[in-house]
Amino acid sequence: MSTGHLWIEEGQRVEGVVADVAPVLYGGRDRTYSYSVPAMLESAVSVGQRVRVPIGRRGRCVTGFVVSLDRRVWDSTLRPLDSTIDPHSFLTPKLVALGREIARHYHCSLGRTLKALTPEAVRQGRGMVKVRYARGVRGVDQLEAAGERISTQRRALLDVLSRENEPVRVDGLLQSTGTSPSVLRAMAKANWVEIETRLEEPAAPHNGEDDLSQAEPDFEPNDEQRAALEAIGVAIDAKRFGVTLLYGVSGSGKTEVYIRAMRRVVEAGQQAILLVPEIVLTTQLVTRLALRFHDVAVQHSGLTESQRSVIWRQVKSGEKTVVIGTRSAVFAPCPNLGLICVDEEQETSFKNLAAPRFHVRDVAIMRAQQLGIPVVLGSATPSLETWYRSERRRDYQRVELSRRVRDLPMPRVDVVDMDSECAEAKGPVVLSRLMEQLLGETLQRNEQAVLLVNRRGFANRLVCPTCRTRLTCPNCNVGLVAHSATGQSLCHYCRTRIDTPTVCSNVSCGAKLVQFGVGTQRVESILAARFPGVRVRRVDSDTMTHRSHYREVIEEFSARKIDVLVGTQMIAKGLDFPFVSFVGMVEADLSGVSSDFRAHERLFQLVTQVAGRAGRADVAGRVVVQTTDPTLPAMRFALKHDFPAFAANELAVRERIGWPPFRRLMRVVLSHQREEVVRREAEALAERVGESIGALSLSYADVLGPSPCALSRIRGKYRYDLLVRVLNASDLRTLSDRLEASGSLRVKKASMMIDVDPVSLS
Ligand code: ADP
Ligand code: ZN
Repeated sequence: MSTGHLWIEEGQRVEGVVADVAPVLYGGRDRTYSYSVPAMLESAVSVGQRVRVPIGRRGRCVTGFVVSLDRRVWDSTLRPLDSTIDPHSFLTPKLVALGREIARHYHCSLGRTLKALTPEAVRQGRGMVKVRYARGVRGVDQLEAAGERISTQRRALLDVLSRENEPVRVDGLLQSTGTSPSVLRAMAKANWVEIETRLEEPAAPHNGEDDLSQAEPDFEPNDEQRAALEAIGVAIDAKRFGVTLLYGVSGSGKTEVYIRAMRRVVEAGQQAILLVPEIVLTTQLVTRLALRFHDVAVQHSGLTESQRSVIWRQVKSGEKTVVIGTRSAVFAPCPNLGLICVDEEQETSFKNLAAPRFHVRDVAIMRAQQLGIPVVLGSATPSLETWYRSERRRDYQRVELSRRVRDLPMPRVDVVDMDSECAEAKGPVVLSRLMEQLLGETLQRNEQAVLLVNRRGFANRLVCPTCRTRLTCPNCNVGLVAHSATGQSLCHYCRTRIDTPTVCSNVSCGAKLVQFGVGTQRVESILAARFPGVRVRRVDSDTMTHRSHYREVIEEFSARKIDVLVGTQMIAKGLDFPFVSFVGMVEADLSGVSSDFRAHERLFQLVTQVAGRAGRADVAGRVVVQTTDPTLPAMRFALKHDFPAFAANELAVRERIGWPPFRRLMRVVLSHQREEVVRREAEALAERVGESIGALSLSYADVLGPSPCALSRIRGKYRYDLLVRVLNASDLRTLSDRLEASGSLRVKKASMMIDVDPVSLS
């Protein structure tokens, strides 16, 4: 039955194709709208496709995604779908289903989520080439009958067109008939022929017969690698969902395990994805890895839009069997995916910074669960969430690579207690004596050094300049963060709040407190003064304003045109320079790594990473860690390279205070120019959320806050947040559904950001 008409009479029932559409920028989290699909569009519309649909009373057309499509009988008035935007869907029905789950878990509108699942370049058809086709409109007979004079050239062309049922490519046509483009143009103008332009895939770049043997290493997997591969192989053969945590120190050969596991999947006729974090060196690492596979698609931020788009299509067609990439590669449209590996699963760069704020590792797990395939998560310092699950859950298994493959010794690590260092110097010290001595020796031997300055700028620690007493939380031994706006100091670990004192709490001292912190610039100038002639380069967000800056610095450092690299955490990752024999951490403390309950975890990860950087080749390494907290568990366990002990210790604390992985968090941040407005709205919001929680019978749930964020004001806007804690993911969804249905999350003036499973609470 035709659905060509718009309105049907009361009580009249009509059968036809109905599309449910999720608009990109309209409606709430779950809102979809139904449209009748006009008969002429029926064959052109599919699930996942981008369409334009009328919305609201005035019927303004907006962009949305078709999320379901079926033949239905309907008896209300349905508006017809306006038009399609793309020639076909860029999302498979399975990816649409994944999008639904992401939207629900991360509390984001489905339309917006689906938009995030397809790279912009692909949606725009970038990388497609325009191909022109000609079709005959009038035949030779017809034209002659009309008294037209037809040259031989034109006749030849018309003959070809009349022989072919399909339109003929213009380039080939002109060539085979020896016709010039101007002749064809004239014929089109006279309406003898019709020219149409189509967007097509470019011819696939020729790979040649790649010589893979060149990239193939000459070693066999060692015993531990073999055991890991066996365990993963069982999961692959079972074709069942399950997570394998591949826990191994850096240099233990995890990458080799991913490669071989992925090959096994490819040999079985399926595809595999390897996700790597976005770091300074991603491009180089990924390119090297790619050499180990035939038919590999590499996705990283260095690609042009059209390269991205072409690769996406090759993956969708199954032509590329392996995908290696950063964040968005988790959505690679592999037709028959068999395995997903996530390297450095603990990396915070896996968290998407705009809505939907998904975590790539968790999306990988969702996708694997949906498809019933295994996931491998690799890390030397797994996130406590993953570690905990690997101990408790039946769908997790853990395999360990305990030794470095090349039996490189771990560098010697010394910890300097900066409190006693400063006490002896009777004043603030930036570089300790040991640090200066080892640095000097390194430079004298013509070797290179890296200095890590852990300053993120916003965490203001209060330190007594006289007795070095710091203002710490009475509950957590974490430095409090002073907020000048409120005159209060907050513990971002347990959220205790006190009025910021002006004088030292040490009764025998009582001096005036100052805010303290060492930045990269300060270290740079100290080095210049102490070591005249030393070539220092600073790497932080001030100096690295463009991607290419990193590459330049890395190249210069590799070429040994720089002696000392001074930088923030961004230089701790992925660097592997044979001549770096000294690494110093100028200020290893909690407030420098994080302002929330993950501070201990981050500090452990950082010290471990840094220790892994020194002396990787024939040069023996030394590491000096300066800290005011030498007794911190993170410090003690990191120096002994004992992650399991650290994890056990930290998990006990998390359980006691009620943080992840024992709870799931939903963070809501409100911001507004006027602090009064945002505070009041945040308070009202907390109350409404509290009521919603009360109306549900969850075994555990509470709301923390509202309180000012660690970053209390950004771009002129005051920020307050509240944290909703529940027991597990299913409670989180129950609550999220309830909040959506009750409209509790609607705020009037402030802007709102919702972050589920946040990795940072700043
Ligand atoms: P990880 O990813 O755990 O940091 P990699 O996989 O990068 O470690 O391995 C570190 C180095 O050891 C690489 O150069 C790799 O080629 C090499 N390697 C890996 N497995 C073996 C092995 N079984 N025998 C010898 N060398 C190996
Ligand atoms: Zn505290």
